[in-house]
Amino acid sequence: MAFENLTERLQSVFKNLRGKKKISENDVLEITKEIRVALLEADVALPVVKKFIRNIRERAIGVEVSEALNPAQQVISIVNEELTKILGGGESELLKSPKIPTIIMMVGLQGAGKTTFAGKLAKKLKEEQNARPLMIAADVYRPAAVEQLKTLGMQLDIPVYEEGTSENPVNIVSRGLKKAADERKDYVLIDTAGRLEIDDKLMNELQEIKAIAAPTEILLVVDAMTGQVAAQVAKTFDEKLDITGVIITKLDGDTRGGAALSIREITGKPIKFTGTGEKLTDLEVFYPERMSSRILGMGDMLTLIEKAQAQFDEEQSAKLAEKMAENRFDFEDFVEQLDQVQSMGPMDEIMKMIPGFSQMPGIDKVKVDPKDIARKRAMVLSMTPKERHLEAELSPARRRRIASGSGNSFIEVNKFIKQFNQSKDMMQGMMNGDMNAMMSKMMG
Ligand code: GDP
Repeated sequence: MAFENLTERLQSVFKNLRGKKKISENDVLEITKEIRVALLEADVALPVVKKFIRNIRERAIGVEVSEALNPAQQVISIVNEELTKILGGGESELLKSPKIPTIIMMVGLQGAGKTTFAGKLAKKLKEEQNARPLMIAADVYRPAAVEQLKTLGMQLDIPVYEEGTSENPVNIVSRGLKKAADERKDYVLIDTAGRLEIDDKLMNELQEIKAIAAPTEILLVVDAMTGQVAAQVAKTFDEKLDITGVIITKLDGDTRGGAALSIREITGKPIKFTGTGEKLTDLEVFYPERMSSRILGMGDMLTLIEKAQAQFDEEQSAKLAEKMAENRFDFEDFVEQLDQVQSMGPMDEIMKMIPGFSQMPGIDKVKVDPKDIARKRAMVLSMTPKERHLEAELSPARRRRIASGSGNSFIEVNKFIKQFNQSKDMMQGMMNGDMNAMMSKMMG
């Protein structure tokens, strides 16, 4: 998938923050320098990189101390928020005309994926909105484009208006629109011609089509693999046609993906969908937040952090954080934490938000047994205060006493103590901002 290298680079930048209790101005400068290089290597346009880095510096220097997050997590949160902003903030829905039909025009360079996208979108509209679209084949220059659209139409059982390849595209569109009006179609998707490069003739033709069709959406289809060029192409198309949105295709490829990061900032126009494969189902609505956390390689980790922040009592979590930092976390805290985690919601839902876990086979079957939590609480209650606060060695004799006191087996007590120690290590890892260590411990 796209962005793999960028993700790796950013993760190694964040790793350098591990264990820091405070982040100095120098640290911020150092980190942002590395992020800058990583973004440029991913082919993100220079002006976009500059703005991004400036924003992060402004926010990360003198970052306020939060009760719930350590400095490394805070920097990651800032990077995530700024990345989301660069990607457009929120979701941008497909516009709909108050009068039928809604006319959507696809534009872009040859090979960007316009025809394929037209098919994907028509399918989506048909299936999700029960729409009755008509596709117009106005790409008369690329060999086989008309045939390709006809084939897609047949596959999807969606009509295609075409007049072969010898007619003038503007006339084809005009007659196609008439047919759509006559048949009271609710959507018209116009597949226009592209060129290998932008030229005036192409732009004039597209402007003419725009003038007669008055489309609600002019969607620029851009191939993510074209890197820096994509940003320039987008800028020109936008200047000439005032596009309404962007589609980034081929994000499934092994691309650096920088185009996706630059285009919104450069054109000011939202990315609406991404293409993630050649099949007609490989279309995704574009969500800036999700893309950002994917680029940062943290699944929905950030949602998890937010959830934790919202749930955890501030005072209690400050106390807990202090204990973790000083490695004083004990059995009583463990039980307290179990209760809090339980109050966050169903454990299997939470697990799915943790990166790596969602792809694990059998994750759907994971359930946390409330009885298990009750059993653990009973074991802690059977400990003496010294044992609970880790002031006494848990010898086999003591373990046996805890077992019989709580109605558990010796093996279960051993298992519990082992789990406690692992959690403690894991929290230590989390305090150090080292997500990878945490993950491998959790998986192990
Ligand atoms: P057009 O000239 O802009 O109409 O481009 P096409 O729709 O013909 O697409 C060009 C090529 O890119 C075709 O081989 C498509 O199958 C392929 N393609 C389109 N979108 C995607 C995508 O999201 N991922 C991948 N891997 N290939 C795509």
